Amino acid sequence: MTILVTGGLGYIGSHTVVELLNNNFDVVIVDDLSNSEKFILKNIEEVTGKKPVFYPFDLKRKELLSQVFDAHEIAGCINFAAYKAVGESQEKPLDYYENNLFTLINILQEFKRRNLSNFIFSSSCTVYGQADEQPIDENTPLKTPESSYGKTKQMGEEILKDFATAYQKKVTLLRYFNPIGSHPSALLGELPLGIPNNLVPYVTQTASKIREKLSIWGNDYPTADGTAIRDYIYVVDLAKAHVKALQKLLDETSETVIDIYNLGTGKGSSVLEVVEAFERANHVEVPYQICERRAGDITVAFANADKAERELGWKAETILEEALRTTWEWQKYLQTRI
Ligand code: UDP
Repeated sequence: MTILVTGGLGYIGSHTVVELLNNNFDVVIVDDLSNSEKFILKNIEEVTGKKPVFYPFDLKRKELLSQVFDAHEIAGCINFAAYKAVGESQEKPLDYYENNLFTLINILQEFKRRNLSNFIFSSSCTVYGQADEQPIDENTPLKTPESSYGKTKQMGEEILKDFATAYQKKVTLLRYFNPIGSHPSALLGELPLGIPNNLVPYVTQTASKIREKLSIWGNDYPTADGTAIRDYIYVVDLAKAHVKALQKLLDETSETVIDIYNLGTGKGSSVLEVVEAFERANHVEVPYQICERRAGDITVAFANADKAERELGWKAETILEEALRTTWEWQKYLQTRI
């Protein structure tokens, strides 16, 4: 059975392709390499011993997309292709809306035209904003995200709900908390473009002395150590959830399905806890300085992921230290490539 994975050479996409191949799905990847590199394809092959089909193009090119559907019998799609830098999205909102939403609509048009179903969308806990209560479950009220990136996720969800309802389609929205870590083989991981915005890539680059010091954005939050709290989920655990979600969609007998799942560990960790866990896991030092809060940051977000456990039989299994250890192994691998 063939699954289209857009953005399949990206961070979460590549890990999910590995899990799909390990579960005997055939995979067709479309990725424009805007935030990934061709060697990831080779590494996927090395890890799995299997060769996914790869098309390097931008999903805004409808005619090329249509040819992919002509060439393969697609049984479902997992859509990772999107821009994801929160700060950049504030400077270039139109690029974010165009890239993240036009591409989504192009794929859905093909699904409608060819009468296909089974669509999984990468969403984010950013759709909850600063929730009034923790942990956050799927019924927690949504708030309009501050960033244009976050808005593309919220709008994407709405587009997919309408798509499922109007055309009787099966759709799953996966709301990720904070994905971290790398593949245990150290052959796959996150490739931050330029200066990383996210915490763990910045910590990693600081430990390897590419950056001088980590800036901790605020230690005056109302939390135990004053730094902000997030739910850091290991990327391989996250990838496995996609396969479970896909399996459930394929098994669904009803024509119309809109499933929503939070994917997190259920445990919140502060910025300082992450730094300390990284140092402990890897026996390295991460110099840091305390700075002002970052605009738009929330204080705390961690998941209640019970629904995913109940309905998908999925649960995060990997502890923070272990995830951070794989990150460091990946960083060392990247250094050997320079
Ligand atoms: N953070 C930080 N320094 C950095 C990057 C992030 O202190 O260089 C903090 C950030 O303020 C937030 C947490 O780490 O509290 C996670 O940030 P990230 O950007 O990784 O994820 P998000 O804010 O989208 O949850």
